[in-house]
Amino acid sequence: MKPISKSLFLQYLICPKDAWFRLHQPDLEEFNVSFSDQNVMAQGNVVEDCAKKLKIFSGFVEVKSRAFSASKEIDKLIAEEVPAIYQPTFSVDGFIIRCDFLVWNAKTKKWDLYEVKGTNSKKDDDGPRDHISDLAFQTIVLERYGLSIGSKYIVHLNKEYVRGKELDVEELFVINDSTEQVELKKATTDAQMEKAKAYLNQEDEPKDGCNCHLLGRSNHCETFKKSHPEIPDYSVHDISRIGSTPDKLIQLVKNGIYHLHEAEDISDFTIPQQNQIQAHKTKKEIIVREEIANILDNYTYPLYFFDYETFAPAVPIYEGFSSYQRIPIQFSLHIIEKMAGPVRHLDYLHLENTDPSETVAKMLGEVIDPKGTVLAWNVSFEKGVTSEIAERLPKYEPVITRICGQMRDLRDIFSQQHYVHKDFKGKTSIEAVMNVLLPDMTYDHLPYTGSDVGFVWWNDIVNQGKEPSEREEKIHLIREYCKQDTFVMVEIFRILNSII
Ligand code: SF4
Repeated sequence: MKPISKSLFLQYLICPKDAWFRLHQPDLEEFNVSFSDQNVMAQGNVVEDCAKKLKIFSGFVEVKSRAFSASKEIDKLIAEEVPAIYQPTFSVDGFIIRCDFLVWNAKTKKWDLYEVKGTNSKKDDDGPRDHISDLAFQTIVLERYGLSIGSKYIVHLNKEYVRGKELDVEELFVINDSTEQVELKKATTDAQMEKAKAYLNQEDEPKDGCNCHLLGRSNHCETFKKSHPEIPDYSVHDISRIGSTPDKLIQLVKNGIYHLHEAEDISDFTIPQQNQIQAHKTKKEIIVREEIANILDNYTYPLYFFDYETFAPAVPIYEGFSSYQRIPIQFSLHIIEKMAGPVRHLDYLHLENTDPSETVAKMLGEVIDPKGTVLAWNVSFEKGVTSEIAERLPKYEPVITRICGQMRDLRDIFSQQHYVHKDFKGKTSIEAVMNVLLPDMTYDHLPYTGSDVGFVWWNDIVNQGKEPSEREEKIHLIREYCKQDTFVMVEIFRILNSII
C-alpha cells in the first residue's frame, strides 16, 4: 500500500481519478514539472524562509530528514518539548504528512499546528486546495500518531502590507486561528480519507471517474486524453467560454456530438460561439472591414506598440511593494512615427537589483508623444502595471494618467469579432492570432513564456551572479521575447491595414 500524502489527498478531493494517476503513474509525461511550476514552488520556499523568522517560531528545531527513519529524532524532540519543530514528517495508517511547524504550548500542554501558505488570504471555501481540509488532514494524522494537538493556524501573506525599507516579517504575515473550522471539518475529512485510501489503492486504473467531458477545456487536467481517447483534440469543449454555459455543452456531449461541424442548432449560442462554429464549418473567415477600419482610423500617429514584462514575487523585494505586486522589469516599444513610415524599436531591461519603476516612468514619459496611440494586446495588463507606478510615485501621476489614456487594445478587433478565422479556434491571444496570420513567425526559438521572464530576470540576471556569458545569453533571450511580442503586433496591424 502506497502512503497517501497531504497533497495527494487534496488532489483527490479535486479529482479522484487524477490523484490515482499521480500515485500509480507518477512518471507520466503529463506530470512533468514545468519551469513555471518550479518557480512557483521556489516562491513557496521563500515564503517559508520568511515565516521561519516569525517570533512565534523562535527556537524552532528543523528536521532535515524526510524519511520515516527520522521518527526517532522527532519523538525525541516531542518528548523534550522543544519550543517548535519545523518540517517533521509523520506516517500512520497509510497516510503521510510533513507539517510546517508544531509549536509547544506550555499552558495547554499541547502542540499547536501552523501551516504556512503563500497566498494573500485564507481559503476556506470548500473549493480546490481548501486550507481547512489541509489542516484537518494533518490534525487527523497527528492525532492518530498519538499527539495532542491544540490550536490550528493558517499563516498567510498579508495583502495590506506594504514593504518599507526593510522587510517586516511580523507585518508580512497574518496568523489566522482556524481551530474551530478544523474541528467542525474533522469528521467529514476522516471519512474522506478512508474513501481516498480505498480508491487510490486500487491496483487497476478505475474505469470511470473522469467527468470532465461535461466541462469546458479549461477544466480538463493533463490526463483527460487518457480517460477520453474518443474526444478529438479540438472539440466542442473548445468552443469559446462554453464552460460558463455548461447546459449547452452537456447537451452536445450527451448527443454524442464532439466535432464542431456536427453542432446544428446553435441559435442560442453567443455570437462569438456561433462565429467560431460557423468559421469552422464553412472554412471561411469572418472579416468586418468597416468595423476594423473604424478602429484603425481612431488610432493617431505616432503609434507605439507596447508590452511589459514583470516580476511579481510573493515576498515584496522593494520598498513600496506588496505581495505579488508587479515590478515592471522590462518593456518593448515598436514605434511608427507616421503612416507607412519605418518601424523603430526601443526597449528597456532593468539590470540592477533595484526598483525600476522610476526609470520606466521617466522613459515612457519622454518617449511617448502625447499625440500618439499606445497599442497593447490585452491592455488592462499594461494599464494596471503603469497605474501602479503612479500609486508608488505620485509625482509621475500626470504623465502616467496621460499615457494610460492613450492606450488602446489591438486585441479588441479580434475579441469584438471583427476578424474571426477558423484556425483561431475561438481564441484571441496574440499567439493564437500570430500562428494563423503570421505562419512564418514563431516563439519556438525562445525558451521562455511570459510568466517565466520575471523569474529569469530575478534568478539569473540581477540576483544570482551567473557567469557573465550565461547572464548575457539570458539578457538577450528575454529582450528578444518582449521584442517579439511588440513586433508581432506591428505585423498584425499591417495585415489589418492591408485588408480594409
Ligand atoms: S479531466 Fe477532469 S475528471 Fe478527468 S481526470 Fe482530469 S480533472 Fe479528473
